[in-house]
Amino acid sequence: LTLQSQKLTLKSGTDGKVAAKEAARPIQIVLANEEEHSFELDEAALENILLQDHVKDLNVVVVSVAGAFRKGKSFLLDFMLRYMHNPGESWMGGEDEPLSGFSWRGGCERETTGIQAWSEVFVVERSDGSKVAVLLVDTQGAFDSQSTIKDCATVFALSTMTSSVQVYNLTQNVQEDDLQHLQLFTEYGRLAMEEIYLKPFQSLMFLIRDWCYPYEHGYGLEGGNAFLKKRLQVKQNQHEELQNVRKHIHSCFSNIGCFLQPHPGLKVATNPYFDGRLRDIDDDFKTHLAELVPLLLAPDRLVEKEIGGNKVTCRDLVEYFKSYIKIYQG
Ligand code: GDP
Ligand code: MG
Repeated sequence: LTLQSQKLTLKSGTDGKVAAKEAARPIQIVLANEEEHSFELDEAALENILLQDHVKDLNVVVVSVAGAFRKGKSFLLDFMLRYMHNPGESWMGGEDEPLSGFSWRGGCERETTGIQAWSEVFVVERSDGSKVAVLLVDTQGAFDSQSTIKDCATVFALSTMTSSVQVYNLTQNVQEDDLQHLQLFTEYGRLAMEEIYLKPFQSLMFLIRDWCYPYEHGYGLEGGNAFLKKRLQVKQNQHEELQNVRKHIHSCFSNIGCFLQPHPGLKVATNPYFDGRLRDIDDDFKTHLAELVPLLLAPDRLVEKEIGGNKVTCRDLVEYFKSYIKIYQG
């Protein structure tokens, strides 16, 4: 009996500690109910993440990756996690380490429209000595019918309102309907924040995966920004609707950028046994990934979340989530 109870104590003793570390995982915080077209915020889950003692009073940085399913968002987020865990020179890891974190392997998992946050909030000290809390967020939805587009717009609006950097993950190009979706998202967000702020959102980064015109616009940020400038240009002879989409997007964000990312190679795109190891990923992809991730997450590049010109703590963010979701439930 003694032995048994000892074992038990030992077990629960270690479990408590290990559990907190091991249990780091994506947590669904906003869920769209597809049948009822309603939204639910899991307040308890959100509070568990953001009200942890060591982060609740720190200013928060929210980096969100948003876009349709099966476009490599989780794959990217897993590399972001590697950077957050080990932001040194060799952050990308060893050649044969399988990727883990946000589950990215296609197949069995049900695709749910909603917002997931990584349960571990990272504390980062910047060169001026200040500390911020970094929350990583995954936002996804399907765009296959009118009703799902509306649900998506709401979820994307919510994530755009609550993030400091929104990475809009697209493949191959920026299509006209990608811009229209974006307009719809931002329109929803704007309605919610109407008359309060001129530019309701902070940073938007278009991330174009599988970019295949590097001879026109080179990979990376510089090529991306040049490409985007052209794509978002308002022209006199353009149809009014096309002009409006462009003006609207410019008016919503304080900062817009674009990054062109090369194709990762056939093993990543098509091999069902691919487990995320670097060895199987094309060099070009890795070279630019090494540029992209620190661009978003290096300590001195982190953008603190601001609402109405004021910095927001983790604790404040919980309250903002609660009041924003109410707008869409009403
Ligand atoms: P998510 O649904 O957007 O989170 O997409 P996942 O990260 O789960 O990736 C879906 C599939 O795309 C996986 O098989 C990945 O190996 C693959 N993948 C990841 N990144 C890329 C990319 O940049 N280009 C292509 N073509 N495939 C990718
Ligand atoms: Mg995913």
